Amino acid sequence: MLELQRLDQIVAAARAELDGLPKRLREADAKLNGARAAVAAAKEAHTQALTRRKKLELDVEEWRGRAKKYREQSSSVKTNEAYKALQHEIANAEAEASKAEDLVLEQMMALEELERRVKHTEADLREFETAISAEKKQMQMQYGEKKKKMEAALAEREGVAQNVPEDMLNLYARVDKRHPGTALAEARGEQCRACGMRVLPHVLQMLTTETDEEVFRCEMCGRIFYTLEPIPHAAPREAANGAAHS
Ligand SMILES: [Zn+2]
Repeated sequence: MLELQRLDQIVAAARAELDGLPKRLREADAKLNGARAAVAAAKEAHTQALTRRKKLELDVEEWRGRAKKYREQSSSVKTNEAYKALQHEIANAEAEASKAEDLVLEQMMALEELERRVKHTEADLREFETAISAEKKQMQMQYGEKKKKMEAALAEREGVAQNVPEDMLNLYARVDKRHPGTALAEARGEQCRACGMRVLPHVLQMLTTETDEEVFRCEMCGRIFYTLEPIPHAAPREAANGAAHS
């Protein structure tokens, strides 16, 4: 029965990993989508910056155009006052044009930075794509191996179960439902090694001396006891195998 439990543990572990695979695949895809979103965001920011630069360039042109127009007008004004007013307008338009030009320069530097960001996120994405495709391949391989291992353990289990009396199998199944993978507990040092409950000396005594199929269970957790302690008189061969009362 210890062999049965060992195989059940293998099956359960393999099954848990197989069940966890879709989640791992989704996580890998989520990582990839995150990298794709970063590329899209960087490109979007770059496009917006380009639009803004174009608008600022138009601003420069517009202010320069106005200054030019005022200069042309200034040659034909009649009064000193009107001339002064135009000079003021010209200075103002030139100042606005300069401001807009500074902004264009700033925007060009921002654009360079954004171009770098686009390249950087694209490189990251390519790296991710390579890594994740390798990861997926590995997962599929692992999946195949785990599945094979699980099927082998299930086949072996079937063979082992044939040698266990049916009532014992039923009891094992019941306890295993409550304590998956640990239906059997070692009784050692006067304790149930699974829950720590004290084991009465006479039970221990019986465990190490009884040779029939009598079953002892933990009073607290209900697990089925086994002992690896040598059975002094009764069955030395069984004890040497490390499987008493299976
Ligand atoms: Zn117990």
